[in-house]
Amino acid sequence: MNFLVTGGAGFIGSAVCRHLIANTEHRVVNLDKLTYAASLASLSAIENDRRYRFVRADIADRKAVGAALRDNDIDVVMHLAAESHVDRSIDGPSAFVDTNIVGTYHLLEAVRAYWARLPHGPRERFRFHHVSTDEVYGELPMDGSPFTEATPYAPSSPYSASKAASDHLAMAWHRTYGLPLVLSNCSNNYGPFHFPEKLIPLVILNALHGEPLPVYGSGENVRDWIFVEDHARALELVATKGETGRSYIIGGRNERTNLSVVEAICDVLDRIRPPARATSRRELIRFVPDRPGHDLRYATDASRIEAELGWRAKETFDTGLEKTVRWFVENEAWWRPIRDRRPASERPARLGGT
Ligand code: NAD
Repeated sequence: MNFLVTGGAGFIGSAVCRHLIANTEHRVVNLDKLTYAASLASLSAIENDRRYRFVRADIADRKAVGAALRDNDIDVVMHLAAESHVDRSIDGPSAFVDTNIVGTYHLLEAVRAYWARLPHGPRERFRFHHVSTDEVYGELPMDGSPFTEATPYAPSSPYSASKAASDHLAMAWHRTYGLPLVLSNCSNNYGPFHFPEKLIPLVILNALHGEPLPVYGSGENVRDWIFVEDHARALELVATKGETGRSYIIGGRNERTNLSVVEAICDVLDRIRPPARATSRRELIRFVPDRPGHDLRYATDASRIEAELGWRAKETFDTGLEKTVRWFVENEAWWRPIRDRRPASERPARLGGT
């Protein structure tokens, strides 16, 4: 089949493109605007593959999206393009509204027009997969049950509110226009090629450089972590085998406090790269003022995708984190140009949220 992946130069989108080319026979068109968060270097392993193509375009550009759909006889759209960083959404929500809400609207319209003109056969085969986050459900109390697909939406940040809005638009395009659509809401991802403004890569790189490791509040906020390649496999399953009109929660059953994540990174690094000065990199941890509206806890119950689509996370948090830390240690050529764009003195201590 022919896939169009939006946001395929981002962290998760590039993992999806690499997974589809390496493990399936599908063709992949990666449509990405190339914002600050994109890296074509994340696709170097597949860029010369005959089944892979890159198109630089904005999801809000209906003409460009329509042409990419028609020129490549697309059967499946996987929509990952988004502004994705919560801290940035607090400092400047406008891009989040533009891309995540308005951009998704234009994409849905371009896709609907394409789908409506498909002949029988391809029309029945066609699917749109809207990729979203568990943050749309808001925060859980420490003793509350994990999110399920039935949990009501209650987003807290401009990021999660914009993703919630896009989820509702996507579902409305299914219910109102019959667009064959599946939705997934995933927990926090980590892994290779993770943009170093997010907690795990930021901490790995700061720790490698002997720089302070910022932790919000007292580090008690809990996130449910999933290795990005487990997410990419789950997304392929949802896109191709998920039931239309349904949503699927994806998560690794790995709840950790932010502080324990930072400590675990220090411990792995101390073991594989003993520190030059400090006795332990844990000494670099600095507690910084909490993020406004910071959700206390996210936790996911992935029973539906496990039972209905036979998916299971392969990595535990410990195995996935070890792979990730080693990848960053061994792949300076990937992260050095991104990190060097801004010197440490200009890098806000706040960045590093999940
Ligand atoms: P990312 O920020 O790493 O990548 C986003 C990509 O989208 C970038 O390549 C960027 O250039 C592209 N993009 C942004 N605006 C665009 C536009 N208007 N037109 C075309 N391309 C555009 O994000 P990510 O972490 O890979 O997340 C991908 C998706 O998965 C997002 O929809 C996000 O909400 C969702 N998600 C992320 C996580 C996570 O932990 N990172 C968890 C669950 C769901």
